[in-house]
Amino acid sequence: MVLPIELRHTLGTAEKDDLKIFTDGEQVILRKYQPACSFCNLTDNVIKFKGKVICGSIKMR
Ligand SMILES: [Zn+2]
Repeated sequence: MVLPIELRHTLGTAEKDDLKIFTDGEQVILRKYQPACSFCNLTDNVIKFKGKVICGSIKMR
């Protein structure tokens, strides 16, 4: 799916960022794709670590 560049600017996504499309009743919702933490499913402050997505609340030692 190709989005108009204006829409990407509005969403704050770069050209290559993934977008997620889902439906809610009769609405189609378009979101910036955010990888979720493998452990707790949060999408805040996630980082990729050795191929896994984890959130900042997990402390690596
Ligand atoms: Zn987590």
